[in-house]
Amino acid sequence: MRRPRIGVMGGTFDPIHHGHLVAASEVSTEFDLDEVIFVPTGQPYMKNTVTPGEHRYLMTVIATAANPTFTVSRVDIDREGVTYTIDTLRDIRAERPDADLFFITGADAVAQILEWKDVQELWDLAHFVAVSRPGHDLSVSGLPESEVSLLEVPALAISSTDCRSRVGRGSPVWYLVPDGVVQYISKHHLYRATDPVTSTEPITSTEPITRTEPVATEPVDNHRVSETP
Ligand code: ATP
Ligand code: MG
Repeated sequence: MRRPRIGVMGGTFDPIHHGHLVAASEVSTEFDLDEVIFVPTGQPYMKNTVTPGEHRYLMTVIATAANPTFTVSRVDIDREGVTYTIDTLRDIRAERPDADLFFITGADAVAQILEWKDVQELWDLAHFVAVSRPGHDLSVSGLPESEVSLLEVPALAISSTDCRSRVGRGSPVWYLVPDGVVQYISKHHLYRATDPVTSTEPITSTEPITRTEPVATEPVDNHRVSETP
C-alpha cells in the first residue's frame, strides 16, 4: 500500500479566504494528496496583533467543512509562543509518521524560507510546494530545487489583510471568503476597527473581539512571525 500523501497548509488565516482554499485544492489535485491539513498559527508571544487563535481556528473549520479531504489541526494554536514552521512539521510528523508531507506555501512566503528556523531540517520533514500569488514572483532561487516544487494556480488577488480592511470600513467580503466565514465575522464582530479589544474573552461572549492594531499594515506572516532566534 502506498504511503499517505498529506498536504500541510500553514497560515495565520485571519481570516481564511478563497485564495488559501484554491491553493490547497490545486496542490491536492496536482500532487495526488489524500488530505490537506490546515494549520492556523499560534498567537504571537506577548503580542495581540492577530485575532485570537480560537476564532481563526473556527473560521478555518467552517471554511473547510464541506471538503472531506480538508482537515484542521490545532498543533500551532495549542503550542505556547511563536509559531515556527519547523515545529508545525515536527508535530504533524509525530502524529502521522507513516505519511509523506507536502508543505504548501504562497509565492510571498516561499521567498523567505531561507530565513526560517532550522531550514535544513525542513527539507527532511516535507516536500515544499510554492504556489503562484498575484503580485509576487514565483521562483525557487536560492532554494534546493529538488526540495521545492512550483505550481501555477488560478490567480486570486485576495489577502487576509485586505479582507480585514474591507470589514473595517464596512465593505463586503462576500465571495472573497466562504459564506460561513462572512457570517462568523459578522456574528463575532471581528475586524471592526472601532470596537474595544477583548481578546481574552471566550468566543461565546457577545462582546466584540478585535485586533489591537491597525489592520491595513502587513501583519505577522505565517512563518513567520519572523522572530528568528
Ligand atoms: P495576511 O494578509 O494577513 O498576511 P494572507 O492573505 O497572506 O494574510 P496568510 O494566512 O498569511 O494569508 O497566508 C497563508 C499561506 O497562504 C501563505 O503561504 C500565503 O503565501 C498563501 N496565500 C495567501 N493568499 C494567497 C493567494 N491569494 N494566492 C496564493 N497563495 C496565497
Ligand atoms: Mg500573509
